[in-house]
Amino acid sequence: MRRRYGNMVLEAIRSLLRKPETLPSKEIERKIFTEESRGIPTLIADKCIGCSLCAMTCPSQAITMIPGGKRSIGGRVIEIKIPSFDYSKCIYCELCAQICKQNAIEIRKDQDPIIIMKNGESR
Ligand code: SF4
Ligand code: SF4
Repeated sequence: MRRRYGNMVLEAIRSLLRKPETLPSKEIERKIFTEESRGIPTLIADKCIGCSLCAMTCPSQAITMIPGGKRSIGGRVIEIKIPSFDYSKCIYCELCAQICKQNAIEIRKDQDPIIIMKNGESR
């Protein structure tokens, strides 16, 4: 028992003297996409007709339809809703892009990954 207590104290002292193994979030290098990584679903707003198919298909409920202004569709001007992505829920499965008949969602790797922090902030 005494020996175990001694080991604990030693380990505590070692921990105090060691450099931290984790970095403050500001020091984490932004990672770029590799060939293997999945890209970010990105809306091409001009192509979207607001059918909501992507939102209905998303397995993570990461898509919310939000007001997207007026569009001329089939000769009529109507108010449409467009998808808004919650990247903290997205699992990058690409289903939304595959289901969209208008090709209005692109899976892109040419931008920085979106990092969601524990407090909900993104960067
Ligand atoms: S992105 Fe495509 S599937 Fe989603 S609402 Fe627009 S047109 Fe429909
Ligand atoms: S990639 Fe998958 S999880 Fe992400 S928004 Fe599209 S359907 Fe939803």
